[in-house]
Amino acid sequence: MLCLGVESTAHTFGIGVVDETGKILANVIKPYTTDTGGIIPGKAADHHVELCDVTLREALAEAGVSIRDVGLISFSRGPGIGNCLKVGAFTARSLALRHGIPVVGVNHCIAHLEIGRLLTDASDPVLLYVSGANTQVISFESGRYRIFGETLDIGVGNLLDVFARHVGLGFPGGPRIEEMARKSSNYVELPYVIKGMDVSFGGLLTNIQRKHNAGLSTEDLCFSLQETVFAMLLEVSERALAHCGKDELLLGGGVACNRRLQEMARVMCEGRGAKMFVPDDRKVLVDNGAMIAWLGILEKARAKLGVADTGILPYWRTDQVEPNRNSS
Ligand code: AMP
Ligand code: MG
Repeated sequence: MLCLGVESTAHTFGIGVVDETGKILANVIKPYTTDTGGIIPGKAADHHVELCDVTLREALAEAGVSIRDVGLISFSRGPGIGNCLKVGAFTARSLALRHGIPVVGVNHCIAHLEIGRLLTDASDPVLLYVSGANTQVISFESGRYRIFGETLDIGVGNLLDVFARHVGLGFPGGPRIEEMARKSSNYVELPYVIKGMDVSFGGLLTNIQRKHNAGLSTEDLCFSLQETVFAMLLEVSERALAHCGKDELLLGGGVACNRRLQEMARVMCEGRGAKMFVPDDRKVLVDNGAMIAWLGILEKARAKLGVADTGILPYWRTDQVEPNRNSS
């Protein structure tokens, strides 16, 4: 059985096709980007509407199948930007009704965890999920997906993107900051903010913007930004590993593409006899339809014909999801 998964929580519209063994037959991603500002919800949604048809055709062609071969449709029900989520939900529900295919709405954050488990040897990991909008440390523990730490304000990717834009590096900022950071090893002290198990980036952003305005070098600031925020994220991740008694750390989300984050995560894990996992393919780290399709397969018992219970849930938290698995 093939599942077609639709992703549209924020900047990316994506459609993936995955079979029941977890083989990814297609994963087409269409990101909405802008040089001038952040995501304007209405504009991102327009982008998704404009590209939904071509994305579907490309995904089916890449998989070498027709919509009649698809036995299940899944989509990101939340969390995300309402306008954007609606486009994915409309796409999925329309296809389901038109072709008489069962449909299931799934949680975007859990999809990042489950695609990592599928594609790496991690079996019961703590996930450090670091993307544009989201920053969470998640694990399946005592019968539920639980959040052990998260950002209290902006996502780490958003922090990198806003700072990159401030210093004229353009968008997306993460990869450009990574490049600049390689040119320096001069650490400038920045606010290191952990409250309990949560992190906060808002004050750090103001502080580093001021330092840049005062004339400190962009290379030094990019280097220091990475060292500071990655250390914060890994401190919380390490505490989650210790608390849960787990020995696998999985990285997910677009910021997990960062080599320095991967290296620091590896060093932390080695230090405590744990293993670090990160999928090789950047297309499964960023927002994508294949991970939604795979979670659809795992949640297929919940799929129904018709569109009852398929409304979007923009504020759906990871720990509100009723899990479909008993153990890891
Ligand atoms: P996502 O929201 O998961 O699709 O990921 C997008 C985010 O990942 C954006 O904020 C990017 O700036 C960030 N990103 C992508 N590549 C890198 C990288 N190499 N280093 C840091 N951040 C990155
Ligand atoms: Mg994401």
